[in-house]
Amino acid sequence: MRVLNGVHQIKSPGPGSASWPTNVYVIEGGDGHIVVDSGWDSQESLWALQEGMKAAYLKLRDIKEVVITHIHPDHYGLSSKIRQICGAQVAIHRIDADFISLRYKDFSDLIEKTEDLLRQNGVPQDELSQLKEASLWMNRYVTPDPPDVMLEDGDVISNDSFEFEVLWTPGHSPGHICLYEKERRFIITGDHVLYESTPHVGYNPLSGDNPLGDYVSSLKKLERLKVSFILPGHGPVFNALGLRIAKILQHHEDRKRAIMNSLHNGLQTAYAIAQQIPWMVSGGNVAFRDLADWDKRMAVTETLAHLKLLTEEGRVSNVDMDGASLYISKD
Ligand SMILES: [Zn+2]
Ligand SMILES: [Zn+2]
Repeated sequence: MRVLNGVHQIKSPGPGSASWPTNVYVIEGGDGHIVVDSGWDSQESLWALQEGMKAAYLKLRDIKEVVITHIHPDHYGLSSKIRQICGAQVAIHRIDADFISLRYKDFSDLIEKTEDLLRQNGVPQDELSQLKEASLWMNRYVTPDPPDVMLEDGDVISNDSFEFEVLWTPGHSPGHICLYEKERRFIITGDHVLYESTPHVGYNPLSGDNPLGDYVSSLKKLERLKVSFILPGHGPVFNALGLRIAKILQHHEDRKRAIMNSLHNGLQTAYAIAQQIPWMVSGGNVAFRDLADWDKRMAVTETLAHLKLLTEEGRVSNVDMDGASLYISKD
């Protein structure tokens, strides 16, 4: 589907029926097309790309570069297969590129660290094994090859029709990038800014010390941009970036308030706090105990990300007690 002159959006299906589709963008150029995000590594995703390009009268072999906004499987998974088919270069921010092996190849160390982190933060023994391995199935839908190009903030990606500035926007992932087309006034935001949901920002062994603090700074970095169209990694294209950013910031303020309220009951682990705040799945509220394993783990790491930011802001203190990490309000 053509979303702007020379820019096509292809809905790339997720594996199974439950996953939401990834938006793959094809940026036309006489000297080669640029593809932004690849979708999961599956036959269905490859078909979607082939058919989507055919419908736009474009050829797969004319892709010259595949730019990945971040290394989550729904964005990065298929990139290596596209390179094998048409010889395109794959480009990823240096920080996310460094995590490919840790995350998708030699992941036993990461699982161990995730288990330690979850245990420390109050996840009970009988839930640990499911939660620590809750994301492993996704590895089947990724070909974990290193990129050809390591990107940095401020790099330029172009063909003869478009010129994008790489904006490093850590938070959802430490090496997340957005692509800003200044002249045409649009931005491709990956999972950094979505219209229908607030992106997951969690504290985990690869996230850095204060991922939510990073995320908020990265959001504010986009506020100054003059853009008319926002092309996200999932969901509809939209306008009014400033308004959407304000709503996401408000959401995190509300979350922080809910966490502070639950801390009035005294010292608690992130797991105990996560059980007291409401969670949204597919637009509806779901109690923590009814969440699927993967969503439960995201709820705990997301609560932790808020607690790390509140600690940084001096509103919360962290106490270590017999190996358990507990939080207390300073308000
Ligand atoms: Zn993501
Ligand atoms: Zn995504």
